[in-house]
Amino acid sequence: MKRLVILGAGESGVGTAFLGKQKGYEVFVSDKQKIKEKYKEVLKHNEIDWEEETHTENLILNADLVMKSPGIPEKAPIVQKLVEKGVTVISEIEFAAQYTNATIIGITGSNGKTTTATLTHHILKQGGLNVALAGNIGKSFALQVAEGNYEYYVLELSSFQLDGIIHFKPHIAILTNITEDHLDRYDYKFENYIASKFQIIKNQQETDFFIYDADDKIIEKWIDNHPIASQKLPFSLQRKMKNGAYIENENITITTDNKTLQMPTKSLELQGNHNLKNAMAASTVAKLLSIRKATIRESLENFHGVEHRLETVLKIQNVTYINDSKATNVNATFYALDSMTTPTVWILGGVDKGNNYEELLPLVNEKVKAIICLGLDNEKIINAFGNIVQVITETHTMKEAVQFAYRLSERGDTVLLSPACASFDLFENYEDRGRQFKEAVRNL
Ligand code: ADP
Repeated sequence: MKRLVILGAGESGVGTAFLGKQKGYEVFVSDKQKIKEKYKEVLKHNEIDWEEETHTENLILNADLVMKSPGIPEKAPIVQKLVEKGVTVISEIEFAAQYTNATIIGITGSNGKTTTATLTHHILKQGGLNVALAGNIGKSFALQVAEGNYEYYVLELSSFQLDGIIHFKPHIAILTNITEDHLDRYDYKFENYIASKFQIIKNQQETDFFIYDADDKIIEKWIDNHPIASQKLPFSLQRKMKNGAYIENENITITTDNKTLQMPTKSLELQGNHNLKNAMAASTVAKLLSIRKATIRESLENFHGVEHRLETVLKIQNVTYINDSKATNVNATFYALDSMTTPTVWILGGVDKGNNYEELLPLVNEKVKAIICLGLDNEKIINAFGNIVQVITETHTMKEAVQFAYRLSERGDTVLLSPACASFDLFENYEDRGRQFKEAVRNL
């Protein structure tokens, strides 16, 4: 019996343990932290050995194969020891993909993964396909491979999951965009992070497809300098694409295999240019999989977006409150501000990840009437925008921030929470931050 050791007992770790056991491995799960009760229950129920708050070397280094959860860095001492010993260390995606013949649609990028993956899944499902959504979302891919019998998987893939692949190959790959993020895990080298994102196409062949943002300079540059085996289907807001998707006269035009499909951008319930891009990417997948045009259009019409991503909360005294708590970097916030059509009271701040606010200055100048800082350290924000916005104030709780916003806004304005920062100084995570915002708005 082969020994499969799993480092990290979260969603992907426990899912892999379950699938590994089903496939006849001797499975051992080790987590340096405490394991959540619900996951312990799954492990116990399935008679899988585990440990928590430690990594016992002699139970780990004897593995035939190791699955490392995405949260554990390559540099962790236990991973280094495994690598030195020559043990193969892979990600959940690599492990689970061997056990399914389903068609895989893999989606990566710095921003827009969840939205694009959820929208793609929504369209394919409405088109009648037997499709599951997995990866960073909801139930793990491994668990769904073990339990389900799907013909299609839409997978949201982080760079950490792509780092641990060997043979994994999506039939359709989407790369939404690349901006600096997570550099602490990539030796502070942007090129390492870029290379990690492009792992998504490394095993693709000429019968596979690669959908990407042609307006993204980083992506274009990489493509110019590397051979790509699969068929390229770029999307653009700026230029016509012979193959792929673009916008012209308020129509989304998609061409694949010399056949063109057009849909009005008005069909799209989601707001903002970034969502036009996400919609082009998702609709291109749908077209490749022969979903009917009417179904694609209807699906775009009735997709209301994902919580915490430009989510409209309420309109109070004709002021619209929008929760974009998931905007944890400058690029995401750029698109949030870009999509504002009224004077905006903007709440931002939190843990700065090396932010450069310069690209936001023109948008802030044009649209933002007041800034409410919500973070422990707001100095950088005040330095960046103090001179161009008339009102800038500091707060330390969500309730306080929302009450300020209420006082500063007038009929017709928008109050936007789009923090451009991580949330860990004042909140548990971005979901907690978004929920607190919604609650504070509802209590106004
Ligand atoms: P991810 O899963 O990659 O974090 P999400 O879909 O959760 O992406 O969106 C994260 C944030 O980025 C949200 O604030 C959202 O409004 C914004 N966003 C969504 N799509 C894009 C895009 N294509 N480009 C830039 N920002 C985007």
